[in-house]
Amino acid sequence: MTWTLSSDKLDQQNLVIDESLFAIGNGYLGIRGNFEEGYADGYKSIRGSYINAFHDITEIQYGEKLFAFPETQQKLLNVMDAQKIEIFIDGERFSLFEGEVISFQRQLHLDRGYSDRIIHWKSPNQKEIQLIIRRLVSFTKKELFAIDIQIIPLSRIEEIKLFSTIDGDISNYVDNNDPRLASGHAKRLSVIDVCREENVNIVLNKTEASKLEVACISESSATVGYQYDVEVTKTGICESLTFPGGERIQYTKLNIYVDTLRHGQDIVKRGLEILQSTRAETFEEMLGDQYCYLDRFWGNADVEIKGDEKLQEGIRFNLFQLLQSVGKDGVSNIAAKGLSGEGYEGHYFWDTEIYIFPVFMMTNPEIAKKLLKYRHSILEDAKARAREMGHKQGALFPWRTISGTECSAFFPAGTAQYHISADIAYSYIQYYLVTGDLEFLKEFGAEVLFETARLWIDVGHYYEGTFRIDDVTGPDEYTCIVNNNYYTNAMAKWNLSWAAKISGLINSDQVTKEEVKEWHEAAEKMYLPYDEKLQINPQDDTFLQKAVWDFEATPKEKYPLLLHFHPLTLYRYQVLKQADTVLAHFLLEDEQSIETMKRSYDYYEKITTHDSSLSYCIYSIMAAKLGYHEKAYNYFIKTARLDLDNTHGNTKDGLHMANMGGTWLAIVYGFAGMRIKESGISFAPFVPEKWEGYSFVVNYQNRKLKIELTRTELSITLIEGYELEITVYDETFIVEKNGFKTSLKERDLIS
Ligand code: BGC
Repeated sequence: MTWTLSSDKLDQQNLVIDESLFAIGNGYLGIRGNFEEGYADGYKSIRGSYINAFHDITEIQYGEKLFAFPETQQKLLNVMDAQKIEIFIDGERFSLFEGEVISFQRQLHLDRGYSDRIIHWKSPNQKEIQLIIRRLVSFTKKELFAIDIQIIPLSRIEEIKLFSTIDGDISNYVDNNDPRLASGHAKRLSVIDVCREENVNIVLNKTEASKLEVACISESSATVGYQYDVEVTKTGICESLTFPGGERIQYTKLNIYVDTLRHGQDIVKRGLEILQSTRAETFEEMLGDQYCYLDRFWGNADVEIKGDEKLQEGIRFNLFQLLQSVGKDGVSNIAAKGLSGEGYEGHYFWDTEIYIFPVFMMTNPEIAKKLLKYRHSILEDAKARAREMGHKQGALFPWRTISGTECSAFFPAGTAQYHISADIAYSYIQYYLVTGDLEFLKEFGAEVLFETARLWIDVGHYYEGTFRIDDVTGPDEYTCIVNNNYYTNAMAKWNLSWAAKISGLINSDQVTKEEVKEWHEAAEKMYLPYDEKLQINPQDDTFLQKAVWDFEATPKEKYPLLLHFHPLTLYRYQVLKQADTVLAHFLLEDEQSIETMKRSYDYYEKITTHDSSLSYCIYSIMAAKLGYHEKAYNYFIKTARLDLDNTHGNTKDGLHMANMGGTWLAIVYGFAGMRIKESGISFAPFVPEKWEGYSFVVNYQNRKLKIELTRTELSITLIEGYELEITVYDETFIVEKNGFKTSLKERDLIS
């Protein structure tokens, strides 16, 4: 069960949610789980096919536009729809909203990489069929989206007819009332050619401003002879296949998506070549390739939870969806909603570095490397942005972007989040600590670290002997433009000291001695706010002076607050959208004593709304660290099934990728207490009371380690690589070929 997500829902509300949950993709291409034949008239559907990073450029409309506000933004485009297939049984159109649905089940197979719908249907005229509709987006041939339909007649049927379409007349989804969705520019893609070459259908589209092109090249085949007809219009192609009614039919539609970001200029030629090499395989063979790919993936990434099926399903689903959405080509990254929907317009945020990157770094370092390469590829834009923002030196990474320039139009919770530059630097350092790959750091990381360090020198200043950073926004978007945000300062400190360290390690000629000295000094003198009275780290210089939000007088319907209060109202109170200082305590735990972190946790927890889905997992991890085991578990539950249970209410717009990464972090960094530092890898585990145990795999310094916990024992197996020293709580052990087991004290293991 936990390898398969199932649904038999046919009501309007659940159908749009299932479109996101049952999305299939491979990091390049993503297809929402729409029904081939559509819904009943009047039903809403967000039909979507997306290519990671395939975007248009649109103008940002401001009422008042001030200096250095970005003029344009990028927007992920919905591309040609190849999903549409209608089925007619003796002239009656198949629909799950007419006739009798004797049985219906849709499934997403997390271990096999495809989705299916199995249907037993009786038409209004009593014609009966079974349908098995399977679809996959290939992990081994990224351009391929295949649909396979088996039609099994269960009563006397004279004729079965299929209409299969590629529709090039496509728009994006808009909603003017939700800031998390696009509010305009729905139609940005035009058809520039529709044609047929032999029996292949080709639709070529071009974007309005970015001038990128995308082609969908499609071909149908079937196991039973048919009569064929085709209609080519200005915006698409519809072919019809007419079969005699008595036999079981297997119909397969191969769709190849190519674009000018990756496939050169003559994309049609390239697409035809890819199709040519795809034809040789049957749908069953393609499924075999999916299985092999996923077998390897799960061998590195699976997390097993013993004793809770619902949460087991949650973690597997989340990991699978991350894999389906993460860019693996260096040209793209992972959008806030992945390739499962249009929320946040396909933009990449800090979500990648802090929430998602660590999952791949520890399970699939090759994918993690691609994410870092993407950031390196936009470094020049980040430098240009820093100049535009008035900085003499350094690189300021965009808060949200696709191709490298800033796409945020609301600077208080956008550009002002300078911490993204330190977050990116942090991920390079983590990658180095995990892989030891100094060569990679030299080629792709060092410059990023140096340029971000230079930014901090330029943004910050000395005051009364300490180095300070004014007018920035930390992760909490309900508190904006503040001086000395603890998170930002602590991360900048880390960025500066590592930039200095790395310049020495690689003996870089890109930096001067004076510069290194400057970085050291700023890091050493970095002001990290501390409140003597409360003995906590204040979120910023004025945070604790503000009135506390009146939570008692805020009814449930008023959440998320951002949809009901002007930003200034929120800024004036002590109220958090998401973990901020608590997140800094997780990422940089050696900056403060455990007591300070505990008091800070207690303080901030009470005033955090978790209106952002990036929050629960961090509160879970820190609760685990501080010994609040029940809290750790309760927050974890909220992350694990956030999309499956639509608890944030907007899963229809796409899945919450950062939270999905957070589920994994909550188990590995939270319950198991894993940390990676210069001193090595360590664990401080416990097992939640309701579980019998759990296990997971991590890659570390060319080793593959399996960590297993039962209620009484921790065992670590070295699956690959040489012996290794690890720390469990305060004790150091050597893990050798035949593994290592320790029965930890009751106190440690059991909550
Ligand atoms: C959060 C940000 C996040 C963005 C995209 C916002 O609601 O506050 O931290 O980067 O969503 O996921």
